[in-house]
Amino acid sequence: MTTLTLLVIALLAVVAGLFLSRVIPAVQAYFTYRGKRLITCPETLTKEAVDVAARKAATWAFIGEPVLRLDQCSRWPERQDCGQECLGQVEADPENCLVWNIVSNWYEGQECVYCHKRFGRLHHLDHAPALMGPDHKTMEWDRVRPNQLPELFSTYKPVCWSCHVTETFRQEHSELVVDRKR
Ligand SMILES: [Zn+2]
Repeated sequence: MTTLTLLVIALLAVVAGLFLSRVIPAVQAYFTYRGKRLITCPETLTKEAVDVAARKAATWAFIGEPVLRLDQCSRWPERQDCGQECLGQVEADPENCLVWNIVSNWYEGQECVYCHKRFGRLHHLDHAPALMGPDHKTMEWDRVRPNQLPELFSTYKPVCWSCHVTETFRQEHSELVVDRKR
């Protein structure tokens, strides 16, 4: 092997190493900041749902430090020109403001009001569990606007997906349902 070949191999190894050392934080930034989050709007002190521009954060992380900007907010488009100060809450605790984690934490350990099955952590491939309102109607949690969830969690009850389907059928087709006592 000539000196030139060795030099080229060494150079390629350095370039590949540098590339990898930037790709890893970029991928980490993308997976850390993707997903819908709930924050307290510093302007109104209300719960709002936001999406961080995760791809842009990943691009910035590839170049240097991840820079966070919002991609969506439940107060947009009216307040699209706000200072995005809420991003400080996302940066401080990206996991705990993720809607998925908030919902999963709420269900975990509770029982379905109908069948009393205990909920574990939510899984992305499972059917979404539901919520039962004061009117006894049930709806899947992901049909609710995310910024309404904290309020609903104080008055609504958890319902597993199977009971939600059964109860929906019972309410929509009551003429076809016969309740038999055990
Ligand atoms: Zn159930």
